[in-house]
Order: sequence, then structure tokens, then C-alpha cells
Amino acid sequence: MENVLIIGTGCAGLTAALYAARANLSPLVLAGASPGGLLTTTSIVENFPGFPDGIDGTEFVMRAQKQAEKFGARVANDTVEKVDFSQRPFRVTAGDGVIETRALIVATGASHRHLGLESESLLERKGVTYCATCDGALPMFRNHPLVVVGGGDSAIEEATYLTRFGSRVFVIHRRDALRASKIMQERAFKNPKIEFVWNTVVTDVLDVKQDRVTGVILKDVKSSQTRTLECAGVFVAIGHAPNTRLFAGQLEMDADGYLICRQGTATNVTGVFGAGDCVDRVYRQAITAAGLGCAAAIDCERYLASLES
Ligand code: NAP
Repeated sequence: MENVLIIGTGCAGLTAALYAARANLSPLVLAGASPGGLLTTTSIVENFPGFPDGIDGTEFVMRAQKQAEKFGARVANDTVEKVDFSQRPFRVTAGDGVIETRALIVATGASHRHLGLESESLLERKGVTYCATCDGALPMFRNHPLVVVGGGDSAIEEATYLTRFGSRVFVIHRRDALRASKIMQERAFKNPKIEFVWNTVVTDVLDVKQDRVTGVILKDVKSSQTRTLECAGVFVAIGHAPNTRLFAGQLEMDADGYLICRQGTATNVTGVFGAGDCVDRVYRQAITAAGLGCAAAIDCERYLASLES
């Protein structure tokens, strides 16, 4: 029987693991399908205090895991298939068996949102991708025009990164103003290889018949005019959706699937806590995810102590 099971090894899960381990709870942490979470798809983390020169996203989470393990956290690469919060201890089906736990922290993060086009899914990994850091250097993208869709920090970061590889990078945004932070915007506006295409959406990705990306169909949302833009890659960076489907019907969540927590990190099930991007639809930063992970571990520790008193 576990004291505390933590689902997720992103910034929130690993910070929760560090705090729970230092409270002598010997947490078991399950990494799931995306070990390290979304931070591993970021190139350089420049806004986490303590790293004045920035730090590579993957290195950051590897260091956080090492730090949690140093104090007794155990990390397994199992993916959770089922949870049952209707009985105590809670029962979690993962890997080859069922884990019983007194308390649980959900830190399952979020996944990349898709445009929802049939051609987009048919051409995924054939030129359509959701991670410039992971795929940008592939030969198929080198010295070709590339398209990034979105207007947030992710889109601008991806576009800037892709200028290393593409001949030109087009940022397709549905409005005429970016959501991205000012510092990232300014950097992108100064970059001669980036061209912004405003008030425009992608309505189709070409060419399913050739089984590779050759271009996109763009529609100007103001004039409704359409045109084709040739490109070798489409990098979709239009935000994220919380990874909470596993908990549907058991944990309270809003219409978009974000867990609803009250009194800190408590969910509607006593003994189950939520932290990070699966809870936070507002800030979604590495530092806020870490903060919520810390809070969840403290709430969890107090809950376990209350069981014994
Ligand atoms: P985001 O801030 O939610 O931005 C998503 C962008 O995609 C918005 O510009 C949105 O347009 C657009 N969009 C959404 N759905 C769309 C659709 N169906 N079709 C076309 N465009 C669509 O997401 P994000 O950029 O991934 O950032 C998520 C969080 O991570 C943010 O808090 C961000 O600050 C943080 N982040 C930080 C860094 C960094 O600091 N280094 C890097 C990456 C991400 P509208 O603007 O019109 O809504």
C-alpha cells in the first residue's frame, strides 16, 4: 500500500514528489505516456528563477526527477489505465497490476490541441507536427518554407526556433494581434525570416494524395478569400487541453476538462489533489505548475496526518 501516488512527471508532479519525499512519504510517481511533460518539448526555459542563462527543458525535468529521487521518491514508467476513487484505499490500475494508495496527486498536465482537420491527422508525422523542438531539425524541413499556426508564446517560440532550419517561417494567426508575451513578440518581429499572416486560418493541409505536406490552404477570415501557401511543414501551436479524461465521472472538472480544486489543491474526492496544467487554465507556466505541485504535496501530507490523529 502506498502513502501517496503521484500521476505525472512534469514540473507539477516532480515538485510534488520532491516535497512528499522530503516529508518521508516515499511517494511513488508514475510517468505515463509523456515522461517529463510538456516542458520537454520546449527548447530553452528562460523564465524559471535561478537559471539566469536559461536551461534546456528536458535537462530541467531530469534534474527535478534526480532531486526528488535523492530524497526517496520512486519513479516508474507505467501509464495509468484506470482509477477507482469509490473505495479506500484508492485503486489505480497501471502497468501489470493494481496499486492501492491512501492519497493521490493528479499532475497529468496537458496535451497539444489539434486544428481538427482530417488532412491534419492524416499527415501527422508526415510534415504536420506539434513540436518544433522535437522535429524541427528533420531533413524534410531543412531549407524549405515552414508554417506555424497560432499566436501564443508556443507559436512564437516555435517560429523563432524554426528559423534555424526553414528557408522562411510563416506564422498564421486568426487575429491581428498576438497573445504571446511582449519580449517574444519583439524578438519575432525583428527576425527577417519570420513573416506574419494575420486574420487567417488554415482550412486544409496539402497533400494527402502525396502522403506528405506540400502546402496549406489559407482563408482570410475578413475577406473569406482563400489561397494556397507552399510549405514543407506545418507546426500546430494553438494551445493545450488538460489530460483528465481518465478521471471523468469521478473528479469534478469544468466544461474544458480542467480539474476543479477548492481549498488549495483539494478535488471533490477527499484525499485526491490536483496540480499543474490539468488544473490551471490561467497561468500555465513551469513556475506555477511547480508551485501547485508543492501545494498539493503539503495538502496531501496534512491530509495523511489527519488520518492518523
Ligand atoms: P495559448 O497562450 O493558449 O495560445 C494559443 C494560440 O492559438 C492563441 O493565439 C489562439 O488564438 C490560437 N488558437 C487557439 N485555437 C485555435 C484554433 N482552433 N485555430 C487557430 N488558432 C487557434 O497557448 P500556448 O501558446 O501554447 O501557451 C500556453 C501557456 O504556456 C501560456 O500561458 C504561455 O505563456 C506558456 N508558454 C510560455 C513559454 C515561455 O514563456 N517560454 C513558451 C510556451 C508557452 P487567440 O489568440 O485568438 O485566442
